[in-house]
Amino acid sequence: MSKRINQKPRILGLTGGIASGKTTVLNQFKKLGIKTISCDEIARKVYTRANVRKKIKKYFGTLNRKKIAKIIFSDFTKRKQLEKILHPAIIKNLKKQLNLLPSTFYLLPVIVDVPLLFETHLEKMFDKIIVVYCKKNQQISRLMKRDKLTKTEAIRRISAQLPLSKKLKLADIIIDNTKNLLDKII
Ligand code: ATP
Repeated sequence: MSKRINQKPRILGLTGGIASGKTTVLNQFKKLGIKTISCDEIARKVYTRANVRKKIKKYFGTLNRKKIAKIIFSDFTKRKQLEKILHPAIIKNLKKQLNLLPSTFYLLPVIVDVPLLFETHLEKMFDKIIVVYCKKNQQISRLMKRDKLTKTEAIRRISAQLPLSKKLKLADIIIDNTKNLLDKII
């Protein structure tokens, strides 16, 4: 009689700097058929909850995400306040999703995109930690282009996080995202 192996999958945390390419890399894993979870997506859902919106509106006077981003990246206390409103609900939802993973034999790990993994000290939740890396000038230009920011604004947002160079030292696995996506296709 064959033995059934019951085992939870290994959970890999995927992180990096702002605009270093976490979502881009996560989507590549997804295309390969790997189960992925995005904390950005969880955050977007949490943001729509009535109780969360009420707290945000009360504290920031607006629900506009772009306006709030501008505020929090120039005011540390306000950034911490937003994190206090959002993070507990995001972590709770993530833990729930991980607990719901079926206990069957998994060949492949589950990959979770956690932008502030080190900053929020979530290391223990993961079997291994992947850091997505690109050069600082690429991070700046990709961020400027994607979010239509000036160079000063992009640098300010990058500086609000633990430096990517420090995250690299804490990584189990590093994914090099310095090559241009278009170059890869050609
Ligand atoms: P955030 O921290 O804001 O969630 P992120 O780390 O998830 O960002 P992405 O959104 O994947 O980063 O990438 C940032 C921008 O850079 C996007 O516009 C994306 O299309 C672009 N980008 C990512 N990787 C590459 C690459 N290798 N070549 C060219 N552009 C890239």
